[in-house]
Amino acid sequence: QAAATGSYAANATATWPASDEGDGGLLRAAMVALVRNSEMDGIRSTIRQVDDRFNRDYGYPYILLNDVDFTEEFMEKVQAITRAKVYFGKLPASHWGLSDYVTEDKVKAALEQNKDRYLYGGSYSYRLMCRYQSGFIHKHPLLKNLDWYWRIEPGVKYYCGMSYDPFRYMRDNNMVYGYTIAPTEKQLTVETLWNTTRQWMLENPDLLPDSSFVRWAINEKSQYNMCHFWSNFEIVNLAFYRSKAYESYFQHLDRAGGFFYERWGDAPVHSIAAAMLLRKDQIHWFEDVGYWHVGYGHCPQKPELSRNCICDAKQTFMYNSKCQRRFNEVDNISRDQALELARL
Ligand code: GDP
Ligand code: MN
Repeated sequence: QAAATGSYAANATATWPASDEGDGGLLRAAMVALVRNSEMDGIRSTIRQVDDRFNRDYGYPYILLNDVDFTEEFMEKVQAITRAKVYFGKLPASHWGLSDYVTEDKVKAALEQNKDRYLYGGSYSYRLMCRYQSGFIHKHPLLKNLDWYWRIEPGVKYYCGMSYDPFRYMRDNNMVYGYTIAPTEKQLTVETLWNTTRQWMLENPDLLPDSSFVRWAINEKSQYNMCHFWSNFEIVNLAFYRSKAYESYFQHLDRAGGFFYERWGDAPVHSIAAAMLLRKDQIHWFEDVGYWHVGYGHCPQKPELSRNCICDAKQTFMYNSKCQRRFNEVDNISRDQALELARL
C-alpha cells in the first residue's frame, strides 16, 4: 500500500479487512507505540530497524499515539522513513488523566514522598502513561478492528533479521502473549500490587481459568517475586486485554489507586495478568528477537538463531535471567491451587 502524500491527518480512519486474514496474507495486526513529539528521532530509528529486520517484507501498518497533537513535522518525517502506512492518533481525553478513584491531594503527597525513592517516583505523567498502557491503549479507536499488536518504543534496538511473521506464528500456535526480556521490577514501585491482585482473585474465582501460569510470578512465601515481561516489546492477541477478566482486573487495580499512590507499571500489570489468566503454552519467549532497551539487552546465542543478528553475543542477560529460569522450571496450576496461593 502506497503511503499517503501531502497530508498526514491525525486520527485518520484506520481500515482493516473485516475477515480474519488481511490483505496479502497479513493478519489484522499493527506495530503500536505511544510516543511524544520530542521522540521523533527515536521512533524513526525504531521504525527503520523494525522495517529492516522484519516489516519491509510484510508492510504491517504503524500506529503512533500521543496525548497531545502530533506536529506536522513529526508526522511528515515519521511517514517518510517507511513505505508502510503510519496512522497518527490522539488519545481520548478520558483515557489520560487522574482516575476517579484517587484524590489530587493524596497523589501530590505520594509523588512528593516517592520522588527520591525510585526512578520516576515524582513523575505524574509517567503514572498516566503506565495507567494508559495498562487499561486503555487497547481501547483506542485506531486499534478497534485489530486482532494483534506489537508494541514498539522510540530508541530501542532490533538486532536480528526475522524471516517469518510472528503474528501468524502466534496465531497458528494459539499463543496470546509474546515477550523477549524478563527482568525483575523494583519492589518499592509495586508494594501492594500483589495483595491487590490476590484480593481480585478471591473475589472473582469465576473469572480465573481452569489452569494458569500464575505460580511463575509468586515466590515460596506466596509473595510477588518481581518477575515481569518487559512491555516495551510485547506481541499480544488483543482479545486478551479486551476480555472480561482483564478489564475486571484492571478496574480493580485502578480502584485501589496504586497507579498513582505507588508507581505500578504496565509491565508488571500485563505480566501478572498474563500469568494469572493464561497457560504457559499461551505465553511465548521470542528467544530469536535480539533486542535492546536502556537497561537490558538480549542477543540470541544459539547458532541457529544468531545467524542474522548484529548484536554482541556477550550480551547474555536473558540467559542469566532468574525470571526466565523460573519460566522454564515452573508449570501450570489449577484454579483451586491458584486460589489457595491467593489465600495465603
Ligand atoms: P521507560 O521505558 O519506563 O523508561 O518509559 P519511557 O519514557 O520509555 O515511556 C514508555 C513509552 O511511553 C515510550 O514509548 C514513550 O514514548 C511513551 N511516553 C511516556 N510518557 C509519555 C507522555 O507523557 N506522552 C506521550 N505521548 N508518550 C509518553
Ligand atoms: Mn522506554
